[in-house]
Amino acid sequence: MPAHTLPRVLEVALAAPGGRCYRHCERPVRTRRLRSPLPGTWQVRACPAGVVSVVVYTEWVRRDLSQDVLHLLRGHTVPRSLVHARDLRLATRHGPELGTAAERFLARARPRRGIRVVYWRVYPFQGKDGAERRLFVCLRTRHPTPVFFAAPSSATAGDCPSCAAVRRSTPRRARKRR
Ligand SMILES: [Zn+2]
Ligand SMILES: [Zn+2]
Repeated sequence: MPAHTLPRVLEVALAAPGGRCYRHCERPVRTRRLRSPLPGTWQVRACPAGVVSVVVYTEWVRRDLSQDVLHLLRGHTVPRSLVHARDLRLATRHGPELGTAAERFLARARPRRGIRVVYWRVYPFQGKDGAERRLFVCLRTRHPTPVFFAAPSSATAGDCPSCAAVRRSTPRRARKRR
């Protein structure tokens, strides 16, 4: 196992409770994994409509991961400019706050290091037309990676710009066969 892969005991300790979609639909938030070339663990927390509560990247290293996370998220976001460094927060989690099992594990581990966590949280903001926008995610597999985008509160993950681009470029007959 590579040194920065999160052992199961730590993964369990870091698993966040689901919670509800705050000030949108109040429905339960689900956590989805995101695959990436980075060695750590991604959690995308979103409601059934696709409104993102938070995206969390966790890696068991000492260095600051913010630049890696910023770069990767920009590659998954339409437009890229939606990802601002100021919306990323870096935190370090230590043993005592993670429960007994994780604390014991971290106390024995060498070299000693905390767990780095980067949170990406985009609060509702005003679009150019003055209407409120939120961060959405589309987890459909017709594009190779999840796609983050901004849309009015009434939108759904179905309004994904990458899915729309696929629809435009696929002839009607080919689409029917899918
Ligand atoms: Zn919601
Ligand atoms: Zn999509």
